[in-house]
Amino acid sequence: MRPALLNPLFLPVSALAGVGPKLAPKLTRLVRPGAEPGREGVVADLLFHLPTQVIDRSREASVAGAPEGAIVTLRLTVDRHRPTPAGGRAPYRVMAFDDTGEIALCFFHAEKGWLEKLLPVGAERLVSGRVEWFNGAPQMVHPDHVVPPEEAVKLPRMEPVYPLTEGVSGKVLRKAVDSALERLPALPEWQDQSVLDARRWGPFAEAIGRVHRPESPADLADDSPFLARLAYDELLANQLALGLVRASLRVVAGRARAPDGSIRARLRAALPFALTGSQERAIAEVEADLVKPLRMVRLVQGDVGSGKTMVALFAAAAAIEAGGQAAIMAPTELLARQHARSIAPLAEAAGLRLAVLTGSDRQKVRRETLAALAAGEVDLVVGTHAVFQAGVEFRDLALAVVDEQHRFGVHQRLALSAKGSRTDLLVMTATPIPRTLQLSYFGDMDVSRLTEKPAGRKPIVTVAVPAERIGEVVERIGRRIAEEGARAYWVCPLVEESEAVDLAAAEERFEDLRKYFGDRVALVHGRMKAADKDAAMTRFSSGAASILVATTVIEVGVDVPAATIMVIEHAERFGLAQLHQLRGRVGRGDAASSCVLLYKGPLGETAKARLAILRESEDGFRIAEEDLRLRGGGELLGTRQSGMPGFRLVRPEIHGALTEMARDDAALILARDPELTGPRGEALRVLLHLFGRDEAARLIRAG
Ligand code: ADP
Ligand code: MG
Repeated sequence: MRPALLNPLFLPVSALAGVGPKLAPKLTRLVRPGAEPGREGVVADLLFHLPTQVIDRSREASVAGAPEGAIVTLRLTVDRHRPTPAGGRAPYRVMAFDDTGEIALCFFHAEKGWLEKLLPVGAERLVSGRVEWFNGAPQMVHPDHVVPPEEAVKLPRMEPVYPLTEGVSGKVLRKAVDSALERLPALPEWQDQSVLDARRWGPFAEAIGRVHRPESPADLADDSPFLARLAYDELLANQLALGLVRASLRVVAGRARAPDGSIRARLRAALPFALTGSQERAIAEVEADLVKPLRMVRLVQGDVGSGKTMVALFAAAAAIEAGGQAAIMAPTELLARQHARSIAPLAEAAGLRLAVLTGSDRQKVRRETLAALAAGEVDLVVGTHAVFQAGVEFRDLALAVVDEQHRFGVHQRLALSAKGSRTDLLVMTATPIPRTLQLSYFGDMDVSRLTEKPAGRKPIVTVAVPAERIGEVVERIGRRIAEEGARAYWVCPLVEESEAVDLAAAEERFEDLRKYFGDRVALVHGRMKAADKDAAMTRFSSGAASILVATTVIEVGVDVPAATIMVIEHAERFGLAQLHQLRGRVGRGDAASSCVLLYKGPLGETAKARLAILRESEDGFRIAEEDLRLRGGGELLGTRQSGMPGFRLVRPEIHGALTEMARDDAALILARDPELTGPRGEALRVLLHLFGRDEAARLIRAG
């Protein structure tokens, strides 16, 4: 239950004065972009929508002394109006002056009556806006504010500038925020006093008030103590939530399992290659966890192509040896099926009973699978998040492996822990996550790293080619197909705004390439039915098709070792980490591979830097760090907005360093007061709810 004192902050925005039914949805889109349809943003969303800068209007300047391009406030007397001559395109000019000179206030498409009321001849007005010099004379186009001197208080001296959207002007937003600030209840202090003192941070209410109503530009600068305090609040809420999830996963002691190595021995015998040292080490670490009576929460981090699937399979085998069942979950159906396909022959050789479970299984098949899982007649299930759903029962789920973890959220982790109260958890990610982000998303997990790639891999030759030379690229691919039976991925750009447009681009390219290659081209995209996707993938992996045209559905995890060419169209539109992931689809066998980044110029600085780094490096970790540097952490985690998804006040490049402090703070809090029942505990519950970490707050009771 949300503490009652927070209720005013969780009222819908339409409860605020001045926010009507027309404005509410627009405001929602702005302050709570991901809101489910029909759900309105709340007052807290509005408060967390921070301005990005301050316009300083406090400087009262003179007409002659106003610097070019500066925003100033002038005290002017209106001299005369010079309306736009009939049929003319010149602006409506209002001439005004002070002791130092004359200035033209210019208005395009202005209404005469309105201007005469706003700026009556002979009257004195405070006028604030940007001064420009035009043909040697000063002018101000569309002043931001015009007020009579006796209403000077109405002129914001320090005006916060917010990110805006269509239909929500700065003025409207500032008014809404004003009413939101009025609703802010008195909140208990959840931070430790010594931390506040050491950092010179004031109370939450002061901080949130000051960033919305800055008193100087410094209040919104990178090193603003007000912004830092708010970011720290959010970071602490997040770390506490992670700590609580983790504690609840560990509350029920895991079961000490005693794997005997028998299934793994049969797997090894069936493998066409030897495991790498990294794989062996990770598998041994998992086994050591399984043997311990504690519940395992382990992250396997390995660059694309490092062979994570084998680690998952061997971990599953160990859990099954010890008498339990295991589940491997992939973020998409395509991947789930691919995993199942590559695992099937090994599973069979090792005597594992394997099943697949996805959202699009036919009813009858699904019923049979569910019955077999519940009866313990299936050892290993490979699937999508369908495995988490209600109605899926296991006889004894010992291990859950979540592949490409960054697509799964805390919700799913909780749903999973409901499946088997003692289920060990292994999450695998290809994206090397810098430590700051790792702490923010996973808290402290045990980590196994796959640091080496399977032997015999050759470097991928990466080239950037302007789109105009696409014809040469097609020709070269054609030669390599003819000469060596090469296979190529052709990735079409993601146009974020519309899936339909993406699709059209991919389909068009598919038709184009068909003109050259006929039936040897296959197409796969997100809107296709699962069976059609499968069919396309199978044609490509079997070699029946030589070119696979794809939207980014192949981004994560697809594995066709025989493919050696990757073409990425509009490479300039992708983030670094994503390009690295895509490129990682080739270079998986022992043949040399290449990656062609087709770009459309002219390139911006960031895009240039990105392509250069890719040409230079195949080191996922370096690439991830560069990515973070170039655009904030969002891209790393598969979301395309910058900043940290799930965070609203934290700016990773500035506040990232506070993450470790928050982690330690949270650990200390939970060690002292695991149920958050003390006086500070009560306040911390308020904090959890304020930042929408409710599900974690609920765990305290459920614990
Ligand atoms: P990722 O870490 O990207 O998930 P995969 O598990 O898909 O990588 O493995 C990439 C490819 O390498 C697969 O074709 C897999 O069969 C192969 N592979 C995995 N481990 C080894 C190994 N030890 N030696 C050779 N090839 C391996
Ligand atoms: Mg994988």
